[in-house]
Amino acid sequence: MSVVIVGAGPTGLLLAGDLAEAGIPVTVLERRAEESNLTRAFGLHARSLELLEMRGLADRLVAEGTRLPEVRVRIGNAVGALDLRHPESRFPFILILKQARTEAALLERALDHGAEIVHGAEVTGLEQDARGAVVTTADGRVFTADHMVGCDGAHSAVRDLIGAGFPGRSYPDRILLADVLLTGDLGGAINPFMADAGVSLLAPYGDGWFRAVIWDRTVQGVPTEAPLTLEQVRESLRRIAGDDFGAAEIGWSTRFLSERRQADRYRSGRVFLAGDAAHVHSPLGAMGMNTGIQDAANLSWKLIAAHRGWAPGWLLDTYQTERHPAGRTALRLTDTVLRVATAPAAVRPFRPYVLPALLDRPAVRRRARRTISALNVRYPAPPGIEETPSLGHRVPDLPLPEGAGGRLHARAHRDRFTLLDASPGGAAAAQAEEWSDRVDPVRTGDLGLSGMDVLLVRPDGYLAWSGREPEAGQVRAALRDWCGAPA
Ligand SMILES: Cc1cc2nc3c(=O)[nH]c(=O)nc-3n(C[C@H](O)[C@H](O)[C@H](O)COP(=O)(O)OP(=O)(O)OC[C@H]3O[C@@H](n4cnc5c(N)ncnc54)[C@H](O)[C@@H]3O)c2cc1C
Repeated sequence: MSVVIVGAGPTGLLLAGDLAEAGIPVTVLERRAEESNLTRAFGLHARSLELLEMRGLADRLVAEGTRLPEVRVRIGNAVGALDLRHPESRFPFILILKQARTEAALLERALDHGAEIVHGAEVTGLEQDARGAVVTTADGRVFTADHMVGCDGAHSAVRDLIGAGFPGRSYPDRILLADVLLTGDLGGAINPFMADAGVSLLAPYGDGWFRAVIWDRTVQGVPTEAPLTLEQVRESLRRIAGDDFGAAEIGWSTRFLSERRQADRYRSGRVFLAGDAAHVHSPLGAMGMNTGIQDAANLSWKLIAAHRGWAPGWLLDTYQTERHPAGRTALRLTDTVLRVATAPAAVRPFRPYVLPALLDRPAVRRRARRTISALNVRYPAPPGIEETPSLGHRVPDLPLPEGAGGRLHARAHRDRFTLLDASPGGAAAAQAEEWSDRVDPVRTGDLGLSGMDVLLVRPDGYLAWSGREPEAGQVRAALRDWCGAPA
């Protein structure tokens, strides 16, 4: 079996690395002739970092980026703080890092594992039948595969070629994006400023440069093609934040018309959509790249299971039932942030009172923090599968014996289930013997999870099944449900 991925952005590269590491022949077709040097996304959230940690990449990226534990919203003289110190994650912050750096790490990993990346290959045609999928490029090359994944971004050709709809709408608002060198001190936080004139957000890269995201009411008439100058950024910052923070230099910049759209289906037979090809939203919230990384991590192990021949019949369909709702949540959240930011005149006077008061409430803070970081994503039970406590939740980074990696997230378990057994006799772990080609049994001490002492953890770190002192037959039934018939 082989897989063709269209698009070498962060989504396609993470997927390519996973498949290649599992020994699946994978070809990535990329329209660009050269490497990307665009900044674009600038933040990695906790769940993405956890998934990158499972791939051995998080420490390197954290060392390269800047950790910000707080979003400090200023509305006139009022200040509200959103605390990102997730107590449940090893990554209690948002990591500010240019997209190109994240892409470079993912590219290196994919190449190390033997993925083939073909540059200058623009996909223009696609057909599929019972035998496979065939894609053609603009210069007439033909590639065949058993599965194809369109990771080809917002204007996805693959999405059009499978006839998927992309309902939603374009926002009329022009957002200014720029990397600026500031000499002023803004502290170690993401700094959104809200005023009648608009909204500006400044996020430090840690070397004096900041990503500025600006929605300025007074420049909405300027066409998107018009270049953005340092003086215009200074003016907008002064108008909105009351200060240009000593903006001294401008790097990459663009005027950006954002959209809110989601593909109506993520799968058509042998073809899947992931990342921006499946969903696009406003950059406020920094969720675009993160959602794509999480799509890829959800799909890769399912394709590997299909390739190895043990995937239950329903498994590939769960990509749609799990990731479509997650994409919808990202759309809703970024839409809400944009609406608050661009609120009409009648609402704006209330913002300095309502927003800080809301962010002061622990329950609101927790929910906002967990939604933005995707720590709260929960997948539904597949049809006909036993729904045990906490099914579909992210499994925390549980402590494990040294011989088993020391921590759950430190284990390389991208293509294997983990059966954690803290039951008194340890009988559950023994049941996994016949599934040893796809399940790692681990005997552990108390998991500290009330009501559960045996957990079947999916390769992407979500919970498939849980039990308390289960009978051998229950464990075997769960293994059979999720991991197919024994080898
Ligand atoms: C101006 C801008 C600013 C942004 N700012 C932020 C931000 O601040 N925070 C955030 O989280 N997100 C931001 N995003 C979104 C973020 O960049 C994307 O969510 C992320 O890049 C998605 O990754 P992807 O791999 O799915 O798609 P992409 O990164 O778009 O990669 C798609 C790849 O497919 C290739 N391709 C396209 N068509 C074809 C074809 N027919 N054949 C072969 N290859 C093809 C492209 O060349 C590209 O390399 C921004 C996006 C833009 C455009």
